[in-house]
Amino acid sequence: MSNKSFQILIIGGGAAGVTVASQLMKKNNNLRIAILEPSENHYYQPAWTLVGGGVYQFEDTVKHEDKLIPRGVTWIKDFAENVDPNQNQVTTKTGQIINYDYLVVCPGVQIKWDSITGFRDTVGKNNVTSNYVKEVVDYTWETINNFKGGTAIFTFPAGAIKCPGAPQKIMYMAEETFAKNGVRDKTKIIYANATGKMFGVPAYCKPLEEIVQRKGIEVKYGHNLIELKPDTQEAVFAVNDGENVTIKYDMIHVSPAMKAPDFISSSAIGNEGGWVDVDKFTCQHNQYPNIFALGDASSIPTSKTAAAIRKEAPVVVNNILALMAQQKPIDKYAGYACCPLVTGYGKTIMAEFDYTKEPTPSFPLDPTKERASMWLVKRYALPWIYWNRMLKGEPFEADSWRFLLK
Ligand SMILES: Cc1cc2nc3c(=O)[nH]c(=O)nc-3n(C[C@H](O)[C@H](O)[C@H](O)COP(=O)(O)OP(=O)(O)OC[C@H]3O[C@@H](n4cnc5c(N)ncnc54)[C@H](O)[C@@H]3O)c2cc1C
Repeated sequence: MSNKSFQILIIGGGAAGVTVASQLMKKNNNLRIAILEPSENHYYQPAWTLVGGGVYQFEDTVKHEDKLIPRGVTWIKDFAENVDPNQNQVTTKTGQIINYDYLVVCPGVQIKWDSITGFRDTVGKNNVTSNYVKEVVDYTWETINNFKGGTAIFTFPAGAIKCPGAPQKIMYMAEETFAKNGVRDKTKIIYANATGKMFGVPAYCKPLEEIVQRKGIEVKYGHNLIELKPDTQEAVFAVNDGENVTIKYDMIHVSPAMKAPDFISSSAIGNEGGWVDVDKFTCQHNQYPNIFALGDASSIPTSKTAAAIRKEAPVVVNNILALMAQQKPIDKYAGYACCPLVTGYGKTIMAEFDYTKEPTPSFPLDPTKERASMWLVKRYALPWIYWNRMLKGEPFEADSWRFLLK
């Protein structure tokens, strides 16, 4: 058992953890910072939609953490297993105790496997797939491209998930692939959506309703997947009126329910839902002022996206540095998030919004329209920005990309 101390300890070396570490080091490279991250690899998950759609290589979404964790930051290759916010200590899976002055909690989300009976054993074979399960993202494309017709179901679960647009993006690409492969006429597509609407921001709901109608997709609202029966290829849904409904499928893309890692609720830094309990503007913990959270594991009521992290990270950094200088943490996150809604190959609605639930477009164009230019932003610009600007702690403003619109 070893005992280590850092000024700033970051739990999780994903989109949020690496971005925060890089920004902190850019502001002051004398800070003693550690990232606690068990995985050798870092994943650019936003491109998994494109991998599942057959237009991006999975390998291109992976980089070794060694190449991303900024020089001067200590990488502790281990899992956080407990946070003691009164002692300012984190205990890891291997029994290390790490002391911190300031803690940033961003370990992302996990799949709630037990929310769908049979899912864990079934996914990745027999035409059951999910872009949310990293091991089977390639299988999504295999399933869609080899589909011979029948019923194709795409699901959306109850509760908060990362990138809530992703469950329907893959459906639109599948629909086009079925048409290209000559099986669309013999295919019924169902969008089984546990919520009551196509998207949480009203301005983007209307165009999506028109798109599912245009594509002949049947939307079943209030249908929450609870069981898969692979032997009979049946999916069981709990529906709003308390009944269960069974639908036979020939392929199914599952978007499962998600939760923050268990150590958050067991460590008393979580809220009732198990998310790290922070102020939605300052990202500071509601009880422990030296703890901050951002990204998917936080209670911040925004769309869980890497795009949101791009705007949350500078707030976390500025507020920690303010506290270190005995000032008030006054920087505020306004709830910005962006969900590039891929509506087919070469078409995307760039859905940007904030806490007002109104569109906040970065480009001087009607953001509710499907555009080829926004597909190019999703396919080419955003991955580049992620690896080369965001994770390196560099500022990025959309203005510099306006040439794409010409
Ligand atoms: C299919 C799909 C499509 C998406 N599309 C988009 C999109 O178009 N646009 C967009 O902006 N976002 C999109 N996202 C969401 C985006 O990828 C996430 O919001 C983002 O990665 C969250 O960053 P994070 O740092 O909170 O978590 P992650 O990036 O998931 O990183 C969490 C890290 O914490 C580590 N960790 C886990 N448990 C522990 C522990 N106990 N101790 C220490 N470390 C731990 C993990 O190993 C991981 O490296 C998509 C995601 C998926 C899956």
